[in-house]
Amino acid sequence: MIDLHSHTDFSDGTFAPAALVQHAAESGITLLAVTDHDTVDSYLPALEEAQRLGIQLLCGVELSTHAEPSERSVHLLGYFSTLPPQSFCNWLRKLQEGRRERNIELLARLRSLGLELTWDEVQRLAQRQVGRPHFAQALVARGYVSSLREAFDRYLGEGAAAWVERDEPPLTETLAALREAEGVSSLAHPVRIANDAEALGEFIAQYATLGLDAVECFHPEISPELSQYLVQTASELGLGITGGSDFHGANKPGIAIGTGKNQSLCVPKAVEEWIIAKLGAVAAKDERCRSSRNEG
Ligand code: AMP
Ligand code: FE
Ligand code: FE
Ligand code: ZN
Repeated sequence: MIDLHSHTDFSDGTFAPAALVQHAAESGITLLAVTDHDTVDSYLPALEEAQRLGIQLLCGVELSTHAEPSERSVHLLGYFSTLPPQSFCNWLRKLQEGRRERNIELLARLRSLGLELTWDEVQRLAQRQVGRPHFAQALVARGYVSSLREAFDRYLGEGAAAWVERDEPPLTETLAALREAEGVSSLAHPVRIANDAEALGEFIAQYATLGLDAVECFHPEISPELSQYLVQTASELGLGITGGSDFHGANKPGIAIGTGKNQSLCVPKAVEEWIIAKLGAVAAKDERCRSSRNEG
């Protein structure tokens, strides 16, 4: 089984990297990608466990970007054959800084609504990077809401009472950063961009001209019919296909690693073939650059 979309507690999942890999291996996963939001720091601890257990692990990241001119927030997955170069990690740092600023403002908004949260109690719920799910957990712990879902519906979700817009890098800049870092890009959960298949196809065609490499055709939010349409669209545009459960542990109840919701997810072998070939080609190119650098 294959899963190319998963989160650890280095972002907003609830499993530590090694525990996530163990859980994946026990669930029958043979190829896993960790794709934390805005960070690749979970990769090395996960890799150690993956090597011990003999499963294949890809380094990944999930990035929220701003797509002009539609003003949509578009999530991209980035995949690497190993840790990306330092220049890319420095670029990620800018995003992490923007997140910190958003978090400060979000806390202030919640407090102005009379919800007495402190930074300490939110931060304690995160192992590393603080995200909205940690604010949601804090609101549940205080008894202000009865579920994570209610926390998002009432306060944290887009357009809700404490909603704070985040400074997101442009889609074009993000695709360029991934390409520069010899990463492979995939459009995460495309169904969130448009429900209508035809409109979605047009967005994907546009992003393809901007340098997108693949489309996440298999995800718990995507119906079998839409999956089929996305695979066809990707093929017509010469794009690759990826898929994964978007596993967040207890922060996304009802989603199982590898199989998604009610065992309805099945990421086909073709995904593995495509990503391994693509990353292999990138690595081979990288190797050539390295040897020519050494020769020169
Ligand atoms: P952040 O990156 O801090 O803005 O947090 C975004 C994360 O919050 C997403 O990756 C999801 O894990 C979670 N999230 C976003 N919207 C919802 C929602 N409506 N219900 C539950 N979790 C959500
Ligand atoms: Fe998330
Ligand atoms: Fe996402
Ligand atoms: Zn995700």
